[in-house]
Amino acid sequence: MAKRDYYEVLGVAKDASSQEIKRAYRKLSKKYHPDINPSKDADEKFKEINEAYEVLSDEQKRAAYDQYGHAATDPNFRAGAGGFGGGFDGFGGGFSGFGGGMDDIFESFFGGGGRQRPNAPRRGADLQYVIHLTFEEAIFGKKETIHYEREEECSSCHGSGAKAGTSPVSCHNCHGSGVVVMDKQTPFGRFQTQQACPVCHGSGQEIKEKCSHCHGSGRQRKGHKLSVSIPAGVEDGHQMRLSGQGEAGVNGGPYGDLYVVFQVASSDVFTRDGSEIYFTLPINFVQAALGDEVEVPTVHGKVKMKIPAGIQSGSHLRLNGKGAPRLRSSGNGDQHVTIKVMTPKHLNKEQKEALRAYGKTMGDKVTEEELNFFEKMKKAFKD
Ligand SMILES: [Zn+2]
Ligand SMILES: [Zn+2]
Repeated sequence: MAKRDYYEVLGVAKDASSQEIKRAYRKLSKKYHPDINPSKDADEKFKEINEAYEVLSDEQKRAAYDQYGHAATDPNFRAGAGGFGGGFDGFGGGFSGFGGGMDDIFESFFGGGGRQRPNAPRRGADLQYVIHLTFEEAIFGKKETIHYEREEECSSCHGSGAKAGTSPVSCHNCHGSGVVVMDKQTPFGRFQTQQACPVCHGSGQEIKEKCSHCHGSGRQRKGHKLSVSIPAGVEDGHQMRLSGQGEAGVNGGPYGDLYVVFQVASSDVFTRDGSEIYFTLPINFVQAALGDEVEVPTVHGKVKMKIPAGIQSGSHLRLNGKGAPRLRSSGNGDQHVTIKVMTPKHLNKEQKEALRAYGKTMGDKVTEEELNFFEKMKKAFKD
């Protein structure tokens, strides 16, 4: 059956004010309330009116309806970015706010607060799972099987909450609408208010015999096993969304998502920034002065590296492609090697003599550059 236009249902113009919509709704809901109206189609009409009011009384939902029509009220519908906050899956709260005083009830129902159908499908909750990785595992990736507990749809009643072979029936008290109209005498006169049906708590459905497995909740807590492929190159704090691996939805809504968060251990040897890896190599001053070829550890194994003669402490050398994989493109980053020239602390007699002999050739200068510099200065002052 095709759905009627909500404005038509309430008998108001497309540009009707919220006051006009409220007035039309009050009039019609009184007229068609199944407790008051004995006609056969009153029940259907009442539901239709409530549905129309639920959308048109909420500014955001009304805007969405104006733009997308009935598709906007589909639980699976998602407006594009900048649409109405997260589509219609935000049906939280339900009628829970109705416990307060009558004024609150009045406000929350007629104040345009946007009460939702309590029996609308709701998406399940998202879950988070932390995976601990070693420094190397984060670089090379791995497969890991994880186990966790989550709410799942009851396997016995498939979420209905009704005993096997039976199904929930329309609530006898509210005729499936989930709401009841109450008269309230106040000093200002008689008010009619609507509130969640006390029999079905707003769901519009009654379960005659509860499922013995889940005691009518339609859900059960279950262990869940999942194989996770951790991509090479993840970093500490990165997270991965696994769609539909969260908890079961309510009223037939979809499962939530699982967010896997990575915690990566640090290394005693290396530090890492994205795909770049940093390493400090201590060398003695003879290697620094004369140059050398040494073996340097990398996450990919030992690599031979040439140290050029005359290298200074704090200089950087680069080992191309020896870093971590680039997560969002191809290839690896580099390993950066910082040279640290170590000054000897414990010299024997022979070594001391050799160094003194070397020192004489230097005079009081520190380096060859300095020696050359002073030669030039002398020349400059002579002229
Ligand atoms: Zn069950
Ligand atoms: Zn009911």
